[in-house]
Amino acid sequence: MTPVLIAGGSPVGLATALELAHHGVPSLVVEPREEVSWLRPRAKTTSARSMELFRRWGVAATIRERAPLPVAWSDEAVFVTGLLGQEITRFDRCFGLDLAGDDRAAEPGQQVSQPLVEQMLREAVHASPHARLLTGRRVTGMREDAFGVSVTLDSAEVIRASYVVGCDGSRSVTREAIGARYLGRADSRPNLNIVFRAPGLAERVPFGPAVHYWVLHPSQPGLAGRLDLEETWWCIAQGVTSGDPLEIIRNLARASLDVEVLATDPWTARMLLVDRYSSERIFLAGDSAHQNPPWGGHGFTTGIGDAVNLGWKLAAVINGWAPRSLTATYALERRPIAERTIAEAARNMATLAPELSHPRLDSPSVRQSVAEAVQRAKDSEFHSLDLVLGYTYDGSPIVSGDGARLPHRWLGPGDSLYDHLGPEFTILGREVDGFVKAAADEGVPLTSYDDGLPGLRLVRPDQHVAWSGPDDSHALEILRMAISRAPSTSAGPSPSA
Ligand SMILES: Cc1cc2nc3c(=O)[nH]c(=O)nc-3n(C[C@H](O)[C@H](O)[C@H](O)COP(=O)(O)OP(=O)(O)OC[C@H]3O[C@@H](n4cnc5c(N)ncnc54)[C@H](O)[C@@H]3O)c2cc1C
Repeated sequence: MTPVLIAGGSPVGLATALELAHHGVPSLVVEPREEVSWLRPRAKTTSARSMELFRRWGVAATIRERAPLPVAWSDEAVFVTGLLGQEITRFDRCFGLDLAGDDRAAEPGQQVSQPLVEQMLREAVHASPHARLLTGRRVTGMREDAFGVSVTLDSAEVIRASYVVGCDGSRSVTREAIGARYLGRADSRPNLNIVFRAPGLAERVPFGPAVHYWVLHPSQPGLAGRLDLEETWWCIAQGVTSGDPLEIIRNLARASLDVEVLATDPWTARMLLVDRYSSERIFLAGDSAHQNPPWGGHGFTTGIGDAVNLGWKLAAVINGWAPRSLTATYALERRPIAERTIAEAARNMATLAPELSHPRLDSPSVRQSVAEAVQRAKDSEFHSLDLVLGYTYDGSPIVSGDGARLPHRWLGPGDSLYDHLGPEFTILGREVDGFVKAAADEGVPLTSYDDGLPGLRLVRPDQHVAWSGPDDSHALEILRMAISRAPSTSAGPSPSA
């Protein structure tokens, strides 16, 4: 019996496998694509939070090394009349790309295309003694019973698993299997991604390095950026499903260019959330559970958060130190984050290049008023650390307090407080004996570390704070609450007291 079968090996499925492996739990990822889709670079931004979580698995440094755009290269987004036109306004410190060495995060964000991230996650899965990736196979259906799930593949093979995680994206077979439905709506405007090679373009762009160039000219509003420091670029043309890609690129540039189109990829933004996240043994994660417009770069960040939240909980149940009820807190905790992300991304989408464009951009006074409108409308899209790093699990039954991510600190150069957390629970502080004893009595793996601050903090495997307080007098009850175990009969005052 496979402990966990994961349908779909895109970023979220691979992340789920790596999180389970982090806790020593074997899994099998089933993915139809033999190769990652190199010419479909949907996500370009990996958030600071995703990079922090990748650091836990030892993958962040590899991604950073192999990303063609070094993080120090640029953290700017420039709004322009055309790629070879005039500047209107700009933002710096975008997408947390400026956070290197900053106490707020263990990792800055990283501009890197989605297929490269997927390739590196695939390599980490191949290197893991616990996770296995089966490519060239598709899940066609599944049946759940009291003891497990029978999963059928397109090869007609049936694999028995204790649990299934559906990371199979927008057309999820897993979602169908548990009778869940997406609720929400699609945006009416079409978009077209184009990947192209443009020798010499970078040298001609007069605005310096930037991760996004937003073109506000009404003849072709959209945005573009570099995929590497050689000749490869991406662009998104708004309001377009087809048409001549060469003409679209020339209109964005506002000039004639020597261009080779490598791929086109039409897409529509969606604001969708499932009505249920799971059955007893089958769970949805990533785009199979929620979809948000890409503005702000939150799509797979939310999915990686799902993977880690669900992964540690499933592992705790499979490893025998938490009750099955712990997995029910996955939807309770992650649904509000997806809801908030969809709302913020939809707000970002309300004002895009077509809305900000103007037919008289050759006039300095018009450019000035457009610049002011851009600053008002777009600041929160480029500076959203309150969402990326600041979401909490407030209201969850397994946290006392707001369940925020543990505030990050550098203890020395390259020495993150997070690197001192154990793979499972960690108690931070000095007088930790009560927690150490309670964890031993309850069979909960616990690391202790003196972080030099007064009081105590119980940190979950996902770096969120389950509880903080002055002393360990209610350690047993607190620990039981944090793993969803019923209070002991000798219960003292409630842990939140
Ligand atoms: C233009 C654009 C730009 C974006 N930019 C960003 C960004 O900058 N940052 C960001 O974080 N996000 C971004 N996103 C969102 C991001 O691309 C998605 O959120 C992400 O791909 C979701 O990952 P996933 O693993 O949940 O699903 P998917 O990527 O959809 O993967 C699903 C996987 O399941 C597999 N599969 C499908 N059916 C089956 C089956 N029956 N059995 C087994 N496997 C199956 C598929 O082959 C695929 O590998 C962007 C999206 C778009 C459209």
